[in-house]
Amino acid sequence: MSVTAVEHNKLLLSRLQLFRNVDLNAPEFDQLLSLCDYREMVEGETLLSPDTENNYLYVIVAGRLAIQLGPQDEEIPLTIVEPGECVGEMSIFDNRVPSVQVTASEPSKVLQIEQDVLWRMVSASHDIARNLLYIMSERVRYSNLVIADSLEMQRKYQQFATIDALTGLHNRGWLDDMFEREIRRSERDGLIPCLLMIDVDHFKNYNDEYGHLAGDRVLVVVGESIRKPLRPNDLVARFGGEEFCVLLPETTLENALAIAERLRERVSQASPGILNGQQLPEVTVSIGVAEYRPDDSLETIIASADMAMYQAKKDGRNCVRVATNS
Ligand code: GH3
Ligand code: MG
Ligand code: MG
Repeated sequence: MSVTAVEHNKLLLSRLQLFRNVDLNAPEFDQLLSLCDYREMVEGETLLSPDTENNYLYVIVAGRLAIQLGPQDEEIPLTIVEPGECVGEMSIFDNRVPSVQVTASEPSKVLQIEQDVLWRMVSASHDIARNLLYIMSERVRYSNLVIADSLEMQRKYQQFATIDALTGLHNRGWLDDMFEREIRRSERDGLIPCLLMIDVDHFKNYNDEYGHLAGDRVLVVVGESIRKPLRPNDLVARFGGEEFCVLLPETTLENALAIAERLRERVSQASPGILNGQQLPEVTVSIGVAEYRPDDSLETIIASADMAMYQAKKDGRNCVRVATNS
């Protein structure tokens, strides 16, 4: 048999956030509290679920309840509600199903206040209305914190998704997106960009001779040697494997050649350092340069630079060649 709230110690009720500053000895509250029941809950019992309509505000009197996204959510709870706190008020205010799943994480006791009774309480006491507003604002504040946290996580993961883990340069996915945008922007503004395709020479042999770890070290050093001398507006990415790609916005072919030559020289002088007591030798790169032509797409300008890069390989490697159509 349930015990009604009015039979409960009013002193304890007056400590709950909902009843702060409310005169529970006022005659109308005797009647209203007599309409509220306590509900005893066993561990694992569900109080609110997005599957089920809710007509009650629940005040936790004892125990602890876990808040989760839904019945299938097996992750750690979003939060835990404890004695004094409320759940269910949102679905009472907006007449919609609960937005979360609330389950007793230990044997618990809640005071359940039916929707109509709650509104009668609000009419009887401004303090209850104020307390409800306070409870709601706490809820909104907490939600904002959760949103801010998850946005930050999202940004972090997005960054992981566009950064190459080995070299710290942008990766191919980023290149496809950003190079494309930069080319469109150049077209719109009537500016001509150039593209460099850079490939490490005899890198397979290097890996075979010094090991894959040494090869990885070289890729980091090559990436740095390419990135450092570039201007902030230049775009650079690891194209894949031992290939790097640079887009030089608003750059004449002559200047692009000079930049490519400088990068080639920098790489050939950059020491990969010592690994396992052994001084690793420098590597060289072959570079193909292509100037943007009207009607070029990202694919066609990459293909032109790639052909020029293969010409550099043919001509003995460690050199720069220009695409024949540039
Ligand atoms: P070429 O001068 O003609 O470019 O010869 P190459 O040996 O550099 O070219 P090839 O395409 O035959 O070999 C590329 C090598 O790059 C093979 C592959 O194992 C190595 N490689 C690709 N990605 C990585 C990486 O992330 N780390 C290491 N250590 N090696 C890589
Ligand atoms: Mg290659
Ligand atoms: Mg190579």
